[in-house]
Amino acid sequence: MTTEELIAARRAEPWREALRRNRKNKERTDISRVRMDELDPVYRSRTNEEVNLGLTPEQAMQEAQRCLDCPSPACMDGCPVGIHIPTFIKQVEAGRFLEAARTLKETSALPAVCGRVCPQEKQCECRCIHLKMKKEPVAIGYLERFAADYERESGQLSIPATAARRGINIAVAGSGPAGLSFAGDMAKRGYDVTVFEALHEIGGVLKYGIPEFRLPNRIVEVEIDILRKMGVRFLNNCIVGKTITYEDLHDDGFRGVFVASGAGLPNFMNIPGENLAGVMSSNEYLTRVNLMDAANPQSDTPILKGKNVAIIGGGNTAMDSVRTARRLGADRAMIVYRRSEEEMPARIEEVKHAKEEGIEFLTLHNPIEYTGDEKGRVRQMRLQRMTLGEADASGRRSPLPIEGAIETIDVDQVIVSVGVSPNPLIPSAFRGLEVTRRGTIVVDEATMRSTLPDVYAGGDIVRGGATVILAMGDGRKAASAMDAALSE
Ligand SMILES: Cc1cc2nc3c(=O)[nH]c(=O)nc-3n(C[C@H](O)[C@H](O)[C@H](O)COP(=O)(O)OP(=O)(O)OC[C@H]3O[C@@H](n4cnc5c(N)ncnc54)[C@H](O)[C@@H]3O)c2cc1C
Repeated sequence: MTTEELIAARRAEPWREALRRNRKNKERTDISRVRMDELDPVYRSRTNEEVNLGLTPEQAMQEAQRCLDCPSPACMDGCPVGIHIPTFIKQVEAGRFLEAARTLKETSALPAVCGRVCPQEKQCECRCIHLKMKKEPVAIGYLERFAADYERESGQLSIPATAARRGINIAVAGSGPAGLSFAGDMAKRGYDVTVFEALHEIGGVLKYGIPEFRLPNRIVEVEIDILRKMGVRFLNNCIVGKTITYEDLHDDGFRGVFVASGAGLPNFMNIPGENLAGVMSSNEYLTRVNLMDAANPQSDTPILKGKNVAIIGGGNTAMDSVRTARRLGADRAMIVYRRSEEEMPARIEEVKHAKEEGIEFLTLHNPIEYTGDEKGRVRQMRLQRMTLGEADASGRRSPLPIEGAIETIDVDQVIVSVGVSPNPLIPSAFRGLEVTRRGTIVVDEATMRSTLPDVYAGGDIVRGGATVILAMGDGRKAASAMDAALSE
């Protein structure tokens, strides 16, 4: 059955037709979009508790009524993993919450994760028909989170069905969203999947990057555990390309490799003073706190808890870092960003939350130098004031320095969050793998197949720093193509 046929068949189910008859479209579009409750900003900026509190069943059912159950749902075109969005939303409207969670799991290995961190406003929700009527889109992300949370909290977690084992071994390098999504789809098709992870924890950025107050690790762990129950093996502390080579994988009988090693190499600006003590990358800072529990006084991993902390950059990573600094006790936690707020790549919700938590935004400012004390510790930053010129290749207006407009600000910690580059090990260790000048792996876009016929790749190692859902979409595409190639 094609996806279109499946959508039509599900839409024609009697209970769903009855729902449509129950309420006119006008009544549905007149309902206001739900607001999710959040922890109080003053309280939350001193704890690691999750900020967004989720929807109640009543709120979820009311929000689900807003969905018009379109015959050709455009929202689905905006979802890289192809979730059957109207189906799960109508299941929520009908109170069939466990069924809704199962619908999500048909195509997504990480619904509770995506319901929290996916930029829905740029994916599914921006295609919602409500926008054509100048109304707010259906809160698809909130509903996704609700259904996944409901299932988990009910204790009735379902495990997606897997086909009979085919006796074919497949290796995955990296356990972030790309690797997990690929592993889930291949396990469903009956392959024996082993995920090799360099770190001691499984989950990639979901565990070591995104903080607890946005995505609790225990929630990621539950979704990883479902993959375990589907038969996926996880091997941590194993670096593909070093602990185990491409040749070793062949010798061990792996018939296909999916490289999902991400973009964990932090960029710096190469300005004077960047090597002072107290200046570090967001990757290092967040990994210490999120993965190594450095904020805990009992932890072996130390962390500097600055009082005047500047975070350089305007993406999600910068917002996560600045809000972490606030929670670690910074009196003054600042975002320093060279463009204006309009050009910031961070999600609007993250910027709003950061502002509510007392974060200062020094937009149109760019650091040009850090200076330190006699012990080599950072003490001040010199900032160049900027203005905006014409749009550049990224489509955003380019930042231009205002001559002579320089400010000096006291700081005792600087976190640099100006982008990431692909992890270089696998591209250099797999002989014959074509790599771009940026270090990303070259793949065929339709299949995610690399220049080595048994190696596929996806996620940030192909795209550079991107998003969870795009990485997952790549994983699904690669699984489908590798399965087709192996089935020939
Ligand atoms: C702080 C932060 C916040 C973010 N917030 C959001 C957000 O809110 N929403 C969103 O959509 N996106 C967000 N992103 C981006 C998103 O997390 C990434 O795009 C996504 O995780 C990429 O997935 P991936 O599977 O390609 O790589 P990763 O998640 O980076 O996982 C790669 C894994 O591969 C492992 N690895 C690397 N080399 C090897 C090797 N040789 N052998 C074995 N294992 C290896 C790494 O240790 C890592 O665990 C954020 C990123 C960061 C850093």
